[in-house]
Amino acid sequence: MATNGNDNCNANDSVWQFRGNGATSDAAAVTLRKLVFGMFKNCNFNNGKTILPSTTHSFKTCPEAEEAVAAAVRSGMANSYAPSPGIFNARRAVADYLNGELPTKLRPEDVYITGGCNQAIEIVLDSLAGNPAGNILLPNPGYPHYDARAIYSGVEVRKYDLLPERDFEIDLDALEAAADKNTVALVLINPNNPCGNVYTYDHLKKVAEMAKKLGIVVISDEVYDKVVYGDRPFVPMGTFASIAPVITLGSISKGWVVPGWRIGWMAMNDSNRILKNTGVVESIEDCLDLTPQPSFLLQEALPEILEKTPKEYFAKKNKAMKRNVELSFERLRDIPCLFCPKKPESCSYLWLRLDTSVLANIENDLDFCTKLVTEESLVLVPGVALGAKNWVRISIGTEESELAETFDRLKSFYSRHAISKETIKSHVDTVNQIVVAVV
Ligand SMILES: *Cc1c(COP(=O)(O)O)cnc(C)c1O
Repeated sequence: MATNGNDNCNANDSVWQFRGNGATSDAAAVTLRKLVFGMFKNCNFNNGKTILPSTTHSFKTCPEAEEAVAAAVRSGMANSYAPSPGIFNARRAVADYLNGELPTKLRPEDVYITGGCNQAIEIVLDSLAGNPAGNILLPNPGYPHYDARAIYSGVEVRKYDLLPERDFEIDLDALEAAADKNTVALVLINPNNPCGNVYTYDHLKKVAEMAKKLGIVVISDEVYDKVVYGDRPFVPMGTFASIAPVITLGSISKGWVVPGWRIGWMAMNDSNRILKNTGVVESIEDCLDLTPQPSFLLQEALPEILEKTPKEYFAKKNKAMKRNVELSFERLRDIPCLFCPKKPESCSYLWLRLDTSVLANIENDLDFCTKLVTEESLVLVPGVALGAKNWVRISIGTEESELAETFDRLKSFYSRHAISKETIKSHVDTVNQIVVAVV
């Protein structure tokens, strides 16, 4: 049905020979943006409250990063097109940034600059597509842009589980069982969005060994590498590149809180030249020729952003995150329908199990989130959007005042929807009776 207001434009008897591409809708349907928009488009927001999370109270970027961009503008050096793989200085700066403790150092030419981590995801998936029956292993829960872009590139998606009872480690047996001779890659998100864990050295080594056994490349999404505040250190997957090839993806979006700047990268940790010899590197370079180069301005600013940001900037932000986690855990005690199996040590979310049995008239996570936004103007991501039913993800990367408001609203929502104590008691009594009768 035409929605453009032109009655003469009925698709069936139209004189126009063109149509929208249906393939985009299958892929876009699983994106976070489409899911969240779809969920809230019929909501009535007339409850007088401002929508949370807000963008005004999130953490701020550092002055050094702002200055770097301003200097790039004024230099007049960044007004032309950049080369497809990125400008040399930006590639060198990212290589230096990632090299740290890596046993085999990246060279500038192992790094490509992209329009944020998302464009890196798109390019990697496109460069691995084309095997007619190729499939890719994605984590569950996960980050839906991988699903969407795999669908769009014609790569079959297979899921492996992250185990809540084991610090959200990868279920390696399930991963192996999901793979076959057409599997091309596995995606690992470390530090993990949404679960908030950081993987240990030993676990990552096992992942690399599994990738080698399966003959597949590891795509390691490390976009949250600067948002780590637990005791466990972050270990880059490139550490294990001598075992299996690793493509590392990252950006400044999360660490510097500037997702709108759209600047990121991918790095080929390929000490055994496997990505080179299989033609993946060449295909990545072709893909980069096919797509607009990321802003020269941000590329020009990137070395200074990576090199001049003081450690204290991250330390302060991570300390605030740690405090937010503690505050959130205190406040969660008042909200028995939500349970957090693991205190996050990274990223800026709580990943919570939703217990609908203590709520009246809440069917599932989607229903919970829809009613919550309608009544409280508070936006949580329903677990189904990330692959897990009856979980929810809540953002806690915000100033303390907004965090307090977030939990006030959750609490008032819970109080309104909780089944009464009598109902809980009678439920417990009934279950006890059943148990007594059965045992
Ligand atoms: C936010 C996010 C991205 C996208 O990063 P951009 O640099 O904003 O494109 C990719 N992967 C994960 C896991 C993320 O959380």
